[in-house]
Amino acid sequence: MNPERPILPNDIPNFNDDPLTRENVFIAKLDDLIAWTRRSSVWPMTFGLACCAIEMMATSVAKYDIDRFGSGPFRATPRQADLMIVAGTVSHKMAPRVKRLYDQMPEPKYVIAMGACVCKGGPYSKFGYHVVQGVDLVVPVDVYVPGCPPRPEALLEGLFRIMEKIKLERITDRTRERTRPLIQNPKVGEVA
Ligand code: SF4
Repeated sequence: MNPERPILPNDIPNFNDDPLTRENVFIAKLDDLIAWTRRSSVWPMTFGLACCAIEMMATSVAKYDIDRFGSGPFRATPRQADLMIVAGTVSHKMAPRVKRLYDQMPEPKYVIAMGACVCKGGPYSKFGYHVVQGVDLVVPVDVYVPGCPPRPEALLEGLFRIMEKIKLERITDRTRERTRPLIQNPKVGEVA
């Protein structure tokens, strides 16, 4: 590491104090290294439900370039995805499918609720009998991004909040006890 370079927040602390080998021999905690690799490659699932999904797609184009943060490869299968961005209105008909896709993702997995509809029903909160009043009734939500629709910058901010959560995790904590959110009502997502 160049001693002239300022320490950035995402840097892993190097515990090697020896000035002769510090540049080439790096000593760090395994937890920090694994968290660093995980948060540098949070792959989202290709998955959109309504208008908010257009903003999600805009986040991956050149102007916003989510690939800068390692999240460019939108995966076409839940089995290769770390992050579910629920973008668009979740109807009661679609809720069991959202839950099934979430269940097919490997651990550790994260969820961003993108848009007012997904966070709490949005414009459908009063008369939308067909809309789930918050996707956290179906799957555990890590980060809420409000707005109708939220701009790509807001989604990027949500991604950064996910990265901060990953930084706090320990590899021995297989349940993500300190960071996993609760499902408000797991019965809503069940297939009848
Ligand atoms: S929050 Fe607004 S933009 Fe997003 S899905 Fe709902 S109605 Fe569409």
